[in-house]
Amino acid sequence: MNLIVVDLEWNSASRSQKIDPDLVSLMRFEIIEVGAVRLSEDLSLGKTFHRYVTPVLYKKIHYHIANVTKRTQKSLREGVLFTQMVDELVPFAGEKPIFASWGTSDPEVFLSNSHFHGIGDSLQFRALNAQAVFSGLAEGVTSGNQRSVEYALDFLRLEKDLPFHEAITDAIYTARILSRTLEMELADRPEETIESLLMPYVYDPRMTRQSENVITLEKGDDVIAYLELYDFTCPACGSKIDLAENNSGGYWYTVKAGKRWFAAATCDKHGDIEISVRKARRTDVQSYMIRTLIPERPIKIPFTGEKDTPFMWIDPDA
Ligand SMILES: [Zn+2]
Repeated sequence: MNLIVVDLEWNSASRSQKIDPDLVSLMRFEIIEVGAVRLSEDLSLGKTFHRYVTPVLYKKIHYHIANVTKRTQKSLREGVLFTQMVDELVPFAGEKPIFASWGTSDPEVFLSNSHFHGIGDSLQFRALNAQAVFSGLAEGVTSGNQRSVEYALDFLRLEKDLPFHEAITDAIYTARILSRTLEMELADRPEETIESLLMPYVYDPRMTRQSENVITLEKGDDVIAYLELYDFTCPACGSKIDLAENNSGGYWYTVKAGKRWFAAATCDKHGDIEISVRKARRTDVQSYMIRTLIPERPIKIPFTGEKDTPFMWIDPDA
C-alpha cells in the first residue's frame, strides 16, 4: 500500500484583485504549497516531499492566508508551476497511491487545480480522511466530530515540536497521528492489518458520492409506506440499490419521530450507502429531502433514541 500523507496550503481571491468570476468558479482555492510524507508499512515516517507552488490565478496573497501560513507575497514567486509539482509528485507517490489528509478538502482542491491546469487525469489517486480514522479508531466515535490536528496530538500525547500550518509539518503531524492511531488499534486487535483497518476509510475523490432529491406527498400519505416502494439509486453509478433490513425486520430507522429517518443500503459496485430522509420545514405541503451518501468511513446507523436496558447496580448487601 502506497500511503502518502499530504497537506496543502492554498490561496483564494482577494478583494484587491479583480478576477473573472467564471475562472473563480473553476478554481476557488489555488494551491501554493504541497507537503507530503510517506508512511511506511512498519508505521514509521519515510521520505518527504515539499514544494512551493507559484499561483497563476490568485497572485496576491489573501491577508487571512498570509496570517495563518506566514507566507509572504514575495514567497509566492519562489515556487514551481503546479504542473511541474505534479510531475515531481508522481514518482514520489508511486503506483496507485492513497493520499491521506486531514478532512476531505485537500483532495477536492487538488482535483480542482488539476482540472484547471488541464491535467485532470495525470495523477490517479484514492483518498483517505485521516480525521475520520482518528475519530473512528482512536476516539471510538463515528459522529461528525471534526477534530483539529492539535486536538488529536494532545489526545494521543504526541509532541508538538514543529510549527503548525506549514504544509510539510502539518503532513508530518498527520502522519504521526495516523501512525500512533494504527499502532494502538493493532495492539488491541492483533488480527487486523494496517490495510484492513484503513480500507473502510479509503474513497475515490472523483466519484460523486452524494445525491439529493425532494419528494412531495399527498396529505395523509404515510412516508414510510412511500419510502418502502421508492427506487433508490447509487449516487455514483445510478444503479438500483438494495436496502438492508434493520433489527426489527423493516428497512427504516426512525431517528426523530415524524421528522427524520435512516436506512442502510448497498450498491454491488460501490458498497455501503447511507440514506437519510428529512421532513422539510414548510408545513403547507408534505415535502421530504432524501439524501443518499457513499460514506468515506464505516457506515453508521444514527442513534434512534431507543435506550438500551439501563445498567443497574444492585447492592449485594441490601
Ligand atoms: Zn454504485
